[in-house]
Amino acid sequence: MSVRDVVKVYDGDFTALDGVSFDVARGEVIVVVGPSGCGKSTLLRTLNGLEPIQGGSIEFNGEKVPSKSLPWSLLRQRIGMVFQSYELFPHLNVLENLLLGPSKVLGEKRAESARRAGELLKRVGLLDKAESFPRQLSGGQKQRVAIVRALMMKPEILLLDEVTASLDPEMVREVLDVVLELARDGMTMVIVTHEMGFARAIADRVIFMDAGKIVEESAPKEFFSHP
Ligand code: ADP
Ligand code: ADP
Repeated sequence: MSVRDVVKVYDGDFTALDGVSFDVARGEVIVVVGPSGCGKSTLLRTLNGLEPIQGGSIEFNGEKVPSKSLPWSLLRQRIGMVFQSYELFPHLNVLENLLLGPSKVLGEKRAESARRAGELLKRVGLLDKAESFPRQLSGGQKQRVAIVRALMMKPEILLLDEVTASLDPEMVREVLDVVLELARDGMTMVIVTHEMGFARAIADRVIFMDAGKIVEESAPKEFFSHP
């Protein structure tokens, strides 16, 4: 994925992204850091079209988006996103939360989706929670379900926006471990996080933002060795 000179202006006057450019290589894990309000969340949302942009361009697999063959709706399936606030449907149990997207968007047979859901739930240690409702789960469990829900769509890239920011400290680790395992499996990810130890462990590259701009971009070792 290639991001070039992207400009995002909110409400016609506030510039949240001021000419942002970077590339995401297949299998790469990029961590985006920077002070609150610098545009990290906005950047993630522009990458899959949740936020329209006012300037610049985004290419996915060599094709400029959106296009006829790759509208934002299709791109959002190829680029999954996990939010700080889980965004699970409260009236659906875990399994139904996981089966909704594949059936509606991928047109996958329910039995096949259920098989994949079982496999993924087992991987994140939540197979026994398939019939539970979100309100019956801890924050860490909800976030692991939200990650599985994104994976159910078979994304090529996963965007993670402060996925541990709402969690009690003892639950942070269980979610970060799932993300670390995805990275080991070669999942391409763009991650916004304040967990610096985690960032150091997982990042192939760190992008530092300030006031809507990328102000520094480096391998994690260089970045974290700064005084
Ligand atoms: P970060 O994720 O780095 O904390 P955000 O991308 O959430 O930053 O926000 C960047 C800036 O854009 C902030 O100043 C924020 O107040 C503003 N902003 C975010 N969303 C909106 C919106 N929907 N309308 C207007 N301004 C917004
Ligand atoms: P900080 O540098 O901000 O003190 P820590 O090193 O304590 O950060 O790590 C922040 C979080 O990331 C912790 O919850 C920790 O468990 C998690 N973390 C750090 N490194 C790893 C790792 N290699 N594997 C799994 N989780 C990790």
